[in-house]
Amino acid sequence: MYNPKSLKAEEFINDEEIKETLKYADENKDNMPLIRQILDKAKLRKGLSHREASVLLACEDKEIINEMYDLACQIKKDFYGNRIVMFAPLYLSNYCVNGCVYCPYHAKNKHICRKKLTQEEIVKEVTALQDMGHKRLALEAGEDPVNNPIEYILESIKTIYSIKHKNGAIRRVNVNIAATTVENYRKLKEAGIGTYILFQETYHKESYEKLHPTGPKHNYAYHTEAMDRAMEGGIDDVGLGVLFGLELYRYEFAGLLMHAEHLEEVHGVGPHTISVPRIKHADDIDPDVFDNSISDEIFAKIVALIRIAVPYTGMIISTRESQQVRERVLKLGVSQISGASRTSVGGYCEDEPEDENSEQFDVSDKRTLDEVVKWLMELGYIPSFCTACYREGRTGDRFMSLCKNGQIQNCCHPNALMTLNEFLQDYAGEDTKKIGEELIKRELPTIPNEKVRRIAQEHILDINNGKRDFRF
Ligand code: SAM
Repeated sequence: MYNPKSLKAEEFINDEEIKETLKYADENKDNMPLIRQILDKAKLRKGLSHREASVLLACEDKEIINEMYDLACQIKKDFYGNRIVMFAPLYLSNYCVNGCVYCPYHAKNKHICRKKLTQEEIVKEVTALQDMGHKRLALEAGEDPVNNPIEYILESIKTIYSIKHKNGAIRRVNVNIAATTVENYRKLKEAGIGTYILFQETYHKESYEKLHPTGPKHNYAYHTEAMDRAMEGGIDDVGLGVLFGLELYRYEFAGLLMHAEHLEEVHGVGPHTISVPRIKHADDIDPDVFDNSISDEIFAKIVALIRIAVPYTGMIISTRESQQVRERVLKLGVSQISGASRTSVGGYCEDEPEDENSEQFDVSDKRTLDEVVKWLMELGYIPSFCTACYREGRTGDRFMSLCKNGQIQNCCHPNALMTLNEFLQDYAGEDTKKIGEELIKRELPTIPNEKVRRIAQEHILDINNGKRDFRF
């Protein structure tokens, strides 16, 4: 029954195949010759299959785990350098008709404050985000065909792209909304979205149905096949994710990699990103009710193995995680992080009074964007506000080939430095600006191509003199 090329959810995410994979992983978790062979294959940087990666996940040998971490760090450096892409979520509406038991937006929650931004309120939220320095957003909304129809999402995207406040601009809008039709995906593509993100929540069908007891999201196949419809609708950057804590992590890990393999087999391009959220406390939600929560140690191992198994896929971590956890997984493979996030509807403009809570979950990392940028630079990273690839049409397999032939260093690296300089000139505090300018001075000479290096140097000066929005 298992068939990665099939378009049927239960064939490409096949329960029996996952169970056999877990059994195989258990049987081989101490099989050192096999583990060595898998690690050697991983060193070729062409990825691993779900079976191979599952064996590594099951392995508990300390020395091998350290080797996995070293390899993940190395792969991360080779493919992404020291750049970290920055973004912020924007919650448009928390009206929702679904019954997801882990999410406070579930339809039966009568005490959460329901809010939906008007276009005027979106202008205010986006202006506040631009004033922090954000250039890339992830739109979030509950599923509600009456309150949040696709027309509302499309109108909101148009509004967001049109707002030009001082030197600010939102240059890439990613969208995280419920599974929808090919026709709606086509409309999202036409509206100019970057990545379409949809978390699977859990790949385990039986659990999925229990965790989503009511509403359109109850339909496992419709949800699991959403990325195929998105790609059919012309969106070629899609973002996968699992909500860790709902089911056994080893099951989810195998399912996630099988999903990536399926997209590669059918559409010739794997997922653009993978997110790794963990369940958090929220209004009406106690994370301890879900007994599959994972330790920080296992979390780090999952991140490292995703990095090794799908080297070309970006990895995203949100402010659900603390500064300390974020610091650890940045090293192991994460390439995108959010900063200064608010998970309430309208939260960027004003703090909500306590009796008006509309948040989706509690945020652990509460620092300002300036603090996050400074912290990243002190750790040796280049915070990047770059959105060039998608604006230059380098999406899907065109982006992947850029990764594969190593041209990223002549493209993403200078773009990161130029967009960081925009942030420093327009939004940074004095200390951050000083650290950043020194970092740019140090990093510019490392651009390999001489011509690109010279142009980037000129543009850095142009930015100091007030010009904006350069890209390779
Ligand atoms: N309504 C859309 C959907 O169903 O996919 C949009 C997604 S929702 C705004 C974003 C994600 O937040 C969900 O897919 C879920 O994984 C995550 N989420 C929900 N409740 C959460 C909680 N209590 N803690 C952490 N993440 C949560």
